[in-house]
Amino acid sequence: GVVNKYEINGLQAWIITHVLWFANAYYFHCFSPTIIFDNWIPLLWCANMLGYAVSTFAMIKGYFFPTNTKDCKFTGNFFYDYMMGIEFNPRIGKWFDFKLFFNGRPGIVAWTLINLSYAAKQQELYGQVTNSMILVNVLQGIYVLDFFWNEAWYLKTIDICHDHFGWYLGWGDCVWLPYLYTLQGLYLVYHPVQLCTANAIGILMLGLIGYYVFRMTNHQKDLFRRTNGNCKIWGKKPEYIECSYVSVDGTKYYSKLMTSGFWGWARHFNYTGDLMGSLAYCLTCGFEHILPYFYIVYMTILLTHRCIRDEHRCFSKYGKDWKRYTAAVPYRLIPGIF
Ligand code: NDP
Repeated sequence: GVVNKYEINGLQAWIITHVLWFANAYYFHCFSPTIIFDNWIPLLWCANMLGYAVSTFAMIKGYFFPTNTKDCKFTGNFFYDYMMGIEFNPRIGKWFDFKLFFNGRPGIVAWTLINLSYAAKQQELYGQVTNSMILVNVLQGIYVLDFFWNEAWYLKTIDICHDHFGWYLGWGDCVWLPYLYTLQGLYLVYHPVQLCTANAIGILMLGLIGYYVFRMTNHQKDLFRRTNGNCKIWGKKPEYIECSYVSVDGTKYYSKLMTSGFWGWARHFNYTGDLMGSLAYCLTCGFEHILPYFYIVYMTILLTHRCIRDEHRCFSKYGKDWKRYTAAVPYRLIPGIF
């Protein structure tokens, strides 16, 4: 029903923040670039206070002054509603969109700043920054920059198109993302790892190939949907399955599910690329400890669960057409295996 407009200025926000960060580190010296590492615990408290305040405010807003009453979902279970959110698109005023702001600003901008702070701490403690720390900064930096470069694409992902705004997104974006996605860098401050050249190149290649698969798969779907199939995928007109669905008011709509390009290899090859990149970040830390591998374990659970969640939704939406699609593209993540 409601079609929202968004202010796409994440890239500017990210660039300004990082220019100020470097200007301070190399010129102004107002605070130490190790400030985030040095205040890890106090900041964790602050992030939690923000995460819980935002989630609680979103809950109260959903009950008492929702942006759009028709978009609210009340399940009757207070804890579920708190966790998964009531409002679909909570806003304050015309432009302040909770989902885009919290998903796409504090935590994800902080991600690269936190990594830079860890690199600065290595420099301070050991007089040098290890190649593993540089790899973490570069590979995760590419991922974050990609997010902002393609911010308009992000508006078409499950987070924005389907999830309601509650603790899962509010607290997740303020606390979970900045603290747990950056564990590799934190580990490398305490346990610096200098990789041999062959290993460093291997990890870099895995990370870059993973990123390429992730970006190209997402790009192919975006292009296909934007042009309604009137485009070229790998130099050819894409193949697809015509499908239809009926909305709540009984109106019938038509859509297309592409079976060409990476979308013909597996139903969620974008997740596969993401997982390859995630594994590369963890491998930079060597094999001494399990902690830095938290990220790949978590991402595997998150994205496998997401596959199942998304397919359940698509089956409810497209019915027999979805079955035709899964028959044409039988694997989820790894062709021939899963
Ligand atoms: P997708 O971008 O894969 O979107 C899934 C939707 O795309 C489906 O619901 C369906 O929507 C449509 N679709 C499915 N198959 C096809 C097809 N063959 N042709 C055309 N459209 C299709 O999912 P996400 O939003 O979960 O992921 C976006 C990216 O974000 C991924 O690369 C993922 O790895 C990444 N991600 C990263 C996270 C992180 O924490 N680092 C967390 C979550 C995601 P419709 O109803 O329109 O048909």
